[in-house]
Amino acid sequence: MIEETLEFKAQARALAEAGHLCAMRGWIPTSVGHFSARLNEKQIVITAPGLDKGRLDDTGFLVVDLDGHVLTGDREPAAETFLHIVMYRRSPGIGAVLHSHSAPATALSRLRPEGLLLEDYEALAQLSPPGSGATGTAVPVFPNTPDIPQLAAQVDDCIARHPELAGYLIAGHGLYTWGVSVEAALRRAETFEFLFQCEVLSRTLDR
Ligand SMILES: [Zn+2]
Repeated sequence: MIEETLEFKAQARALAEAGHLCAMRGWIPTSVGHFSARLNEKQIVITAPGLDKGRLDDTGFLVVDLDGHVLTGDREPAAETFLHIVMYRRSPGIGAVLHSHSAPATALSRLRPEGLLLEDYEALAQLSPPGSGATGTAVPVFPNTPDIPQLAAQVDDCIARHPELAGYLIAGHGLYTWGVSVEAALRRAETFEFLFQCEVLSRTLDR
């Protein structure tokens, strides 16, 4: 059984720890959001819908393949699973995808439906490849919609044209970010959340 493998247990544990940290920081109020990690080239482990991300254990996850078929248990994955799958299909170097709903991310996504450009922050070095020399990071904002296949196609097209992106927002909804591992994706999530807080604070102080 997949749930008995060391890889599943290690990734589930890493995602549960990430969920606990994100919940403690208020980035995933109630049971929203979903986190995933790659098991191998064809399978990922993803949080089951409707669970408190601050209290996950090994039973809080589903294994799905990159066509969206559930390989464990009888629970249905969230429709948003396809927003994770498009990332894993796009690059074998993507090992984890995190989706959260913090207040600063949600507020900024409503204020800037045309997208954000984060510039002149020292912390941006955490989001760009080493040596890229990038001074700014674009954060696209996609309109919120229940049509997840259409949204997934939009995201996939955008990432194909801009492979340097480290994350995106869905308007009035939240952040998606990713990395080579759960730890790397979590570092990006922390960096984005810090920068979003700086953006919100700058706007407040500037009034
Ligand atoms: Zn969400």
